[in-house]
Amino acid sequence: MEIKNALEKAAKQAIVNKVVDYLDKNPEKNVNKIFAAVKKLNKKDKVALEQIAVVEDYYNNDECKHKYIQDILTNTDSKCLKKFFTNFFANANWYAGPKKDKYLEKEDTKIPFVMLISPSMRCSLHCKGCYASSYSKKDDIPQEEVDRIIKEARDLGIYYVIVLGGEPFFNDYLLDIYEKYNDMMFTPFTSGLLINEQVADRIKKCGNVIPMLSIEGFEKDTDDRRGKGTYKKVLKAMDMLNERGILFGVSSAVTRTNIDTVLSDEFTDMLIEKGSKMSWYFLFMPVNGETIDFDMMLTAEQRDYLGKRSREIRATKPYFTIDFFNDAPYVGGCIAGKYYFHVNSREDVEPCIFSHFSTVNLKGRHLIDAFRDPFFKKLRAIQPYNKNMLRPCMMIDNTDVIIDVCKEVGAKPDDLGAEKMLHDSEFHEKITKTAEEFAPYAEKTWKEVFNEKGNDDFAKG
Ligand code: SF4
Repeated sequence: MEIKNALEKAAKQAIVNKVVDYLDKNPEKNVNKIFAAVKKLNKKDKVALEQIAVVEDYYNNDECKHKYIQDILTNTDSKCLKKFFTNFFANANWYAGPKKDKYLEKEDTKIPFVMLISPSMRCSLHCKGCYASSYSKKDDIPQEEVDRIIKEARDLGIYYVIVLGGEPFFNDYLLDIYEKYNDMMFTPFTSGLLINEQVADRIKKCGNVIPMLSIEGFEKDTDDRRGKGTYKKVLKAMDMLNERGILFGVSSAVTRTNIDTVLSDEFTDMLIEKGSKMSWYFLFMPVNGETIDFDMMLTAEQRDYLGKRSREIRATKPYFTIDFFNDAPYVGGCIAGKYYFHVNSREDVEPCIFSHFSTVNLKGRHLIDAFRDPFFKKLRAIQPYNKNMLRPCMMIDNTDVIIDVCKEVGAKPDDLGAEKMLHDSEFHEKITKTAEEFAPYAEKTWKEVFNEKGNDDFAKG
């Protein structure tokens, strides 16, 4: 058996090397050979083969997607391109997959695909309604601890890490970490303000870093929310990354006031022109402690429109968009504690970046303890929380789920916003009313666009 496994691994490695070779020399001319190699790597995985077939079909028959893939292959720095393939696809999926499957089979413990970590909450900005605003800025995770947690994650088969905060580029040592764990992929979500020529050079040298820059629309919207002068600095950071062929994208918190700008052709085309390869749209979430502002949340109609427009941009432009909520049907609903999780700056392990509840703190404990804990297992066991996967969330759509699960497993709120979510009846009333208002919109789109079908295979994890 061991010999068979070793042979299989060697065969896979030979194919990976071949693809890396194609990516090194004229990748744009070798796309179909790359597809053929990747299919060979996944020949036993029916779901993966279907996914590859969809992308291949897009590439060959959809002008926009063809242009998008060609643009990435032609304009990305060769090292960044190779790292993206080896770390994100080969290591995170094909190499780590069997490692993670063993935990699932033996002890029903799910090892997530991606770890989110906030090493520090320090940030020079004070953005309105930031989800991070109620954490103490004093509680940085010590550098050795960040190193240990990342190493443990990799040992368990997690090769993709999203770095949040606070501002990830506040801590210079993180660039050393990216360099040290050069078989992993890192995505810092950043204001972009600390990216200068030297930092951009380091990112290029690492090759395994794909930054996401926060931007809330054009100058007025961005500066109103994030502070005067921020917009110009973000655009400058984009130029520095683009000049070096570094893959990057942007993230926008979509609110009642910036939604039309963020989803406009004009804004999206500007981002494409600047070299961004993708946009993440996050609903503004009412989780920021003292000053929860429900008026910044999208109306029900706007939330539905966000999904429609995001799908439209994805279909009609050489660009990729992720709508964190309205794309939930594609990944089987809520992914919290199942495909991803968050380690906050006090080392509490939370199921989701917006869900500030925990049972395990990593000071003196191992990461695996969080995955083995009844909290994460319970969240997974009762998935999906709603048959309609356009209403996936345990906090803003199915508002009793988080209260019931926390009570059952003894999960504690990590901040004031989470405390309110569990114990403030006025908050609960408001969030439930918001959920009820969205329900008819979600029902209509679920029927008309999704034919009442989401990714059931993914739902249970
Ligand atoms: S808890 Fe809500 S916000 Fe978090 S992953 Fe699930 S659906 Fe998304």
